[in-house]
Amino acid sequence: MGKIIIEYLEGQKIYACKKCNVHVTNQDYLISKQFTGQSGTAFLFDKGVNYLTGIPEDKRLRTGLHTTQDIMCIKCQTYLGWKYVMP
Ligand SMILES: [Zn+2]
Repeated sequence: MGKIIIEYLEGQKIYACKKCNVHVTNQDYLISKQFTGQSGTAFLFDKGVNYLTGIPEDKRLRTGLHTTQDIMCIKCQTYLGWKYVMP
């Protein structure tokens, strides 16, 4: 396994992995708190760091069919959520 490079973010409110506290994103990148995922309320961010991506898959969302990838913490591989895959 290669060396893991972890980025640290600055800002008032950092969102981090709940298990190992690696920074994932912060309030500056927060787009919406009203976003709804399949498992309930979700936060939508413009940018994130320190995550691994899974295999792209098509997900049927409220807004239609989108290609998404699961995202996992780069350090402990905890599931963090998913991201849109931009065409
Ligand atoms: Zn973690």
